[in-house]
Amino acid sequence: MLIVDDVEINRVILSQFFQDDYAIVLAENGKQAWDIVRKEPVNIVLADLVMPVMDGFTLLSLIKKDERTANIPVIVMTGSSDSDNEVRAMEMGAADFITKPYHPTIVRYRVRNVMARLENEWRKLEQAAKDRQLSEIHRYVDRDALTDLYNRESFYRRAAEIMQSSMDVPYDIIYLDISCFKIINDLFRMETGNIILKTAAYYFRAVVGEDGIVGRLEADHFALCMPAEQFDPDTFFDGLESTVRSLGISHNIVFYAGIYPVEDAFLPVDQMCDRARLALERVRGSYVKRYAFYDKSMREQMLEEQMLVRDMEFALQDHQFCFFLQPIYNLHTNEVVSAEALVRWNHPTEGVISPGKFIPIFERNGFIVRLDRYTWESVCQYLRKELDQHGHVVPISANVSRLNFYNEDLLEYLLSLIGKYQLEPWMLRLEVTESAYTENPRQIAAVIQKFQEKGFQVLMDDFGSGFSSLNMLKNLSMDVLKIDMDFVPDIDKKNSRAQIIMKDVVRMAQELKTDIIVEGVETKDQIDYLDSIGCEKIQGYYYSRPVPQEDFEKLLYK
Ligand code: C2E
Ligand code: MG
Ligand code: MG
Repeated sequence: MLIVDDVEINRVILSQFFQDDYAIVLAENGKQAWDIVRKEPVNIVLADLVMPVMDGFTLLSLIKKDERTANIPVIVMTGSSDSDNEVRAMEMGAADFITKPYHPTIVRYRVRNVMARLENEWRKLEQAAKDRQLSEIHRYVDRDALTDLYNRESFYRRAAEIMQSSMDVPYDIIYLDISCFKIINDLFRMETGNIILKTAAYYFRAVVGEDGIVGRLEADHFALCMPAEQFDPDTFFDGLESTVRSLGISHNIVFYAGIYPVEDAFLPVDQMCDRARLALERVRGSYVKRYAFYDKSMREQMLEEQMLVRDMEFALQDHQFCFFLQPIYNLHTNEVVSAEALVRWNHPTEGVISPGKFIPIFERNGFIVRLDRYTWESVCQYLRKELDQHGHVVPISANVSRLNFYNEDLLEYLLSLIGKYQLEPWMLRLEVTESAYTENPRQIAAVIQKFQEKGFQVLMDDFGSGFSSLNMLKNLSMDVLKIDMDFVPDIDKKNSRAQIIMKDVVRMAQELKTDIIVEGVETKDQIDYLDSIGCEKIQGYYYSRPVPQEDFEKLLYK
């Protein structure tokens, strides 16, 4: 660990925090630090921002610009209420910032958190080993073989050159993505997918003309860099859609775009693309809007995301995560037959944060695997406590995020929990979302079968929300289907299509000897209809919202 601070006492304090975990090297200013970083292997840098000779910003930018040092995480130290500097440092690639005066626990967790994030990233990289090998090959050539567009690295390089050489011209960075491209590849043959990519590439090249450039960054992701004046999004999309339609493919191919109007030509192009991509995420999946412009609020959202990522590691240690229980009722007996554990985050400053906010982020950075394991263990502790107190329990289901399936020891881990708390596998049910299955059918099917052989009950969550529900039913024997009411919102309208579909899904499940739970039920009319077609098990606000464990007891033993 390299600690850079011009004030000796700060160097001493920080060294003391980490002397047990790291070999420590000290520097008094950015210049000394830069010499060290280039000569010695450094795992992490803690750098003060304000220093004589060379300040922290300059050091940070040197480290991030040099290919040999760019991967070293840099945590910057700022004075209190210095948020401009914090934002600037984060944008320049700082891994995190720490505010003075130093609090030993916080400083330690921040560092641990940064290192854990790196580890997650490594794991993700490993998973994509194949992809990486491919892109390694491409890195040294300038062009993407399929479309002959610039590849990622050369796009970043060339776009920076163009924008920096004509600073008086405002540019746009346009990031494009084809909706559900994987499904197009599955439905048709690979060649069809390739033709779509090539056609799009052809069109993009025509659009950017002489004054701009276009690159294919990966798979179905493209980026354009062109003078803002020449880019009109509506015309652009009209042309794109009619060009692709002329291929005559019997599937609606939808592009989404995020546009970043470049303010500072010296911002690294990958960050410009990130911003355009942030804007894209706002319209992804929309039926009416195909593009969005980046604005500051998106950056705030990103910073909020960064805050969650920054705090997650400490939160886990600090037991800030807990679970609520939402009961599942039998509508005939009005009794609780089981429950679902749903995680909540009691954040010390933000209050209770709902999973909709943090789960997608944790699924992206891999932390979900650890959070899920923590939740399962908490559920097991709860079950143990209940057994000791009452002698019996209802089964509790826990969500198993798809990333878990990449870990070979998943089943072993669950069995070890069951053993540790002396439970039986049927007590802890496992909910797997349908989309997990769509992504990786073979592997998931194999794992699920093993769960079942060991006595675990597996529930298919959000059934009907994905694209391959029927396919999945054909190949996979689930113990329970959880049907989401979003799937059939008009269920209480007489003779609606929704009713017909629901009725048949239920009949099908019955014939397949698969149990059904209907989720998200809110009204008496819905209950009556579900009763009439033979659904018994209901989870929804009609009976109860997810509640803390103590309140769940009251529902169970009322
Ligand atoms: P899910 O597993 O499908 O959970 C059901 C969600 O529907 C819960 O939201 C629940 O509060 C909500 N819900 C239940 N009944 C009704 C109703 O009648 N009306 C409406 N409008 N909503 C209802 P929650 O707790 O916000 O969880 C959202 C999602 O977050 C979950 O969807 C699940 O995908 C994920 N999640 C929650 N806890 C965990 C966890 O421990 N691990 C993982 N991997 N994911 C989790
Ligand atoms: Mg669930
Ligand atoms: Mg669900």
